[in-house]
Amino acid sequence: MTCSKDSIEIDPLGPVIDEALCIGCKLCEILCPYGAIKVELTDKGPKAKSIEVACKGCGVCGASCSTKAITMKHYTDSQLAAQAKAILGVV
Ligand code: SF4
Ligand code: SF4
Repeated sequence: MTCSKDSIEIDPLGPVIDEALCIGCKLCEILCPYGAIKVELTDKGPKAKSIEVACKGCGVCGASCSTKAITMKHYTDSQLAAQAKAILGVV
């Protein structure tokens, strides 16, 4: 099989992490089924970092973060609310 491209571009689905809210508890790192989020020591203490290329966008990290430091790209609260309203026919 031949491939017509040397590389492909993907739209990252990964989490956006607010370092100011992250307390470095490692729960997201422990729960991520793809090893796509790691807590690293920074000059502000331990902070979660996403590894976008490994992330599958499952949302486990965002759902588990107790400080709400994680927002999923394309799935912010306002975006989900808008989708729910559209499904329910509420304007
Ligand atoms: S679960 Fe939240 S607070 Fe804990 S390390 Fe991950 S992003 Fe930081
Ligand atoms: S969205 Fe899923 S795969 Fe991506 S970092 Fe979070 S838990 Fe891991």
